[in-house]
Amino acid sequence: MILQSARGVIGWDTRTKMPPRGIGLRSQQLALLSRFIHRMSTDSEIGMLLEKIEKHPDYASLGELQRRNVYLIRKTYDEETKLPEKLVVETARQATIARDVWVKAKAARNYSLFKPELAKVIDLRKQAADILMDVKKTKTPYDALIDIFEPKMTASQITPIFNELKTHLIKIIDKCVNSPNQPNPSLLRRKVPPSVQQEISKSLAKFIEYDVESKNAGGRIDETEHPFTIGYFDDVRITTHYYEDNVASSVFSVLHEGGHALYGQGINHDLMYQPVGQGCSSGFHESQSRFVENMVGRSREFWTSYYPQFKALTGNAFSDVPLDAFVHAVNYVQPSKIRIESDEVTYCLHIIIRFEIEQALFQDKVTVEELPTVWNQKYKDYLGQKIENDSEGVMQDTHWSGGAFGYFPSYALGNIYGGQILAAMAKDMPNWAGQMEKGDFHSIKQWLTTNVHTYGNLYDPIPLLKKISGQEINVKPFVDYLNAKFSKIYQY
Ligand code: ZN
Repeated sequence: MILQSARGVIGWDTRTKMPPRGIGLRSQQLALLSRFIHRMSTDSEIGMLLEKIEKHPDYASLGELQRRNVYLIRKTYDEETKLPEKLVVETARQATIARDVWVKAKAARNYSLFKPELAKVIDLRKQAADILMDVKKTKTPYDALIDIFEPKMTASQITPIFNELKTHLIKIIDKCVNSPNQPNPSLLRRKVPPSVQQEISKSLAKFIEYDVESKNAGGRIDETEHPFTIGYFDDVRITTHYYEDNVASSVFSVLHEGGHALYGQGINHDLMYQPVGQGCSSGFHESQSRFVENMVGRSREFWTSYYPQFKALTGNAFSDVPLDAFVHAVNYVQPSKIRIESDEVTYCLHIIIRFEIEQALFQDKVTVEELPTVWNQKYKDYLGQKIENDSEGVMQDTHWSGGAFGYFPSYALGNIYGGQILAAMAKDMPNWAGQMEKGDFHSIKQWLTTNVHTYGNLYDPIPLLKKISGQEINVKPFVDYLNAKFSKIYQY
């Protein structure tokens, strides 16, 4: 854990502060640390110790926490030792090449350039998935990849959930798009200097109680091309990007990454240095970032409290914009081609498309050759979009070039978890929105910490979701939340 967090800080520095010429030494530092980490986690002594512990007569009498620790060490150890080093090294090498070619192919709008490299990545991930399927005891290779990000979730479990969500989302989008009550999103293009946006970032961090300023701060905000969160317990950092003519981009990045940071810092401190002392899953992490970004950050109640401060910070830029016009603009629903630019309602459709394609790829029902055709057809069917070239189509995301298959479902699952978490919170704290309207986020943060963050990785995602919400995974709370919110904004 300590070595991993050291690697994290070095990785952070690479993307924020490092002078360009440092890259040579830096890649050696990172490679050496990665080798140490790999060697330590696959040391045969761990295997021997695990066996001793598991066979020990007192093992059954260990508490839940200690047994979970043993389980998590066993899981990582088995997976890391069963994957041949040659395959791991080859995958890392090919991912670097494929990512590099992806950047060039995307700029040149030339899928045929990317295709052979992508095919090699997929082949390597299929080999890994076959091995992991045995270790993880999943039914299909694709399930083994999903399990990396969302433990114990399977494609056959996700499919009906996503199908149901898809039907609801298409209906909500239809109502919003056809409503006569449309926002004016162009007002968000008004210029706000980056120096002012930095002040806005600090005030947002303060609102959500993510400390980046005090003498005892455990966080900080820097600027990078793509926003991200990195860190461990008392040192969790976020980044954002400032566009002069798109202040909303940074506002919602800070809230999103701030949600990740609160999760990282909210895990019970006693769990530090233990395998359980980390987030539950990628989907759970995303549930927390989307919660703060959307359920809090795009709510009318939040802006009721924060808008006067925002107006004061931005000078005259928004002085003539009424609260409701601003709230509607940041909740503009419009089907689009690009996932990362999409709104709260259409977002999950982008994810569902990727999940369906990944599943077909790993079942050999779609070839690398056919990917663009399949992609474009789904964008037409679900989002009514005509994809003009593969750069705005199948090549828009970086994930596949890096071999991160099985990751996408987590994004949509996070939204679904978020809906159930919100419903549970509303039951405990019926006046949560009213409190936020008064500028009080404290009780919401407390609730999230006590009911979600504190558990760390003590449970797999579905058991944790049940513990929080008392229910199996279901889309209804998320769909109800969207309908309640957008029917008001769009008056449908
Ligand atoms: Zn995120």
